[in-house]
Amino acid sequence: MTLSAAQQSGAGARVIGPGATLGVLGSGQLGRMFTIAARRLGYRVHTFSPDQDTPTGQVADVEVTAPYEDLDRLRAFASGVHVVTFEFENVPAVAVDAIEELVPVRPSGTALFTSQQRGREKAFLAEHGFPTVPFARVDAVDALRDAVARIGVPVVVKTAAFGYDGKGQRKVSSPAEIDHVWAAIGGREVVVEKFINLQAEISVIAARGLDGSVEEYVPFENRHSRHILDVTTAPAVVPAAIAARAREIARAILDQLQYVGVLCVEFFVSTDTQLFVNELAPRPHNSGHLTIDAAVTSQFEQQVRAITGLPLGSAELLRPAAMANILGDLWVDGEPNWAAACAFTDVKLHLYGKAEARPGRKMGHLTALGRTVHDAQDRVIAARDALLS
Ligand code: ADP
Ligand code: MG
Repeated sequence: MTLSAAQQSGAGARVIGPGATLGVLGSGQLGRMFTIAARRLGYRVHTFSPDQDTPTGQVADVEVTAPYEDLDRLRAFASGVHVVTFEFENVPAVAVDAIEELVPVRPSGTALFTSQQRGREKAFLAEHGFPTVPFARVDAVDALRDAVARIGVPVVVKTAAFGYDGKGQRKVSSPAEIDHVWAAIGGREVVVEKFINLQAEISVIAARGLDGSVEEYVPFENRHSRHILDVTTAPAVVPAAIAARAREIARAILDQLQYVGVLCVEFFVSTDTQLFVNELAPRPHNSGHLTIDAAVTSQFEQQVRAITGLPLGSAELLRPAAMANILGDLWVDGEPNWAAACAFTDVKLHLYGKAEARPGRKMGHLTALGRTVHDAQDRVIAARDALLS
């Protein structure tokens, strides 16, 4: 029997210290920013995904290109690293199981299982008393009809698996639309939920360490455009009681899941100032990118610390900040004017190394620091507008 790297160096030791090798499943921008944070701390990083010359692979020590279903390649990958994390949560459960036999996976396969499917995630939240919007899990058109009658229109129908950026979602405003919506996205499990009039959408990004300690950022406020995150501002401008409650809920969710790593909890704040958990992301999140420039410890460094057993860093926000996504749409007239955006003081440019700009594709982001949240927001939007100048 050959020993994995983790076994050789004594996986029993609690801290996987700098110099060790971290494995990342997935190879997008989240993995890239994780890798940069890990290398700054002196770790090596190997990434595994079906793609080549990826945002993560460009900055990692080793880029493995193979399908997630290739268990032999996954085992070989696992035996070359000390701990595995993921930046892409739709990794098949069998892949995670195969790796967990060789090396720790953090967050665990169990946490991943709960949060990678919307139906299971909502059931977990409701079962443990976390506030969700009224919802039902259904897998047949008759059951959908009953659920819509019970919850009351308008509702949103969402596919239970593999949804992101609003993909696989339909609003239903009248029961007459049910057959059409079922034909379009049904045929498999869906979640039906009450449509909420939103005052704000906020997220709390929190990390839980191997020792069970938790550090969370203040709530951030998120605005979407065409269902894709557009601008995040920090701190969120919501009543203090809502902010405190959201932080408390995020901490309780991490504890309930016995989670190790970074988790993002997305919340809705309704126009009547009720707080609901919308969904969980079992990894660093787009709304936390501003922590790189605006917090004592970035969400990516926090992920490195959590999965290696290092103490978590402070999640204190140093300045009000705003982040604007740079989507592929900005390439309509050719290469954006990077110099114009970089000319703004207190604005930082982050690009992900993606060769091809497609509409809706996340190519990079800008972060602005400001005297106030509004100042930061104005600055980041002006800098993004300047990209088209
Ligand atoms: P995704 O996985 O695509 O992020 P979400 O469930 O977060 O899916 O939905 C995307 C966006 O659609 C939300 O951020 C929110 O703006 C809107 N939305 C989703 N569900 C509801 C709802 N029940 N009521 C009102 N708006 C909703
Ligand atoms: Mg969402």
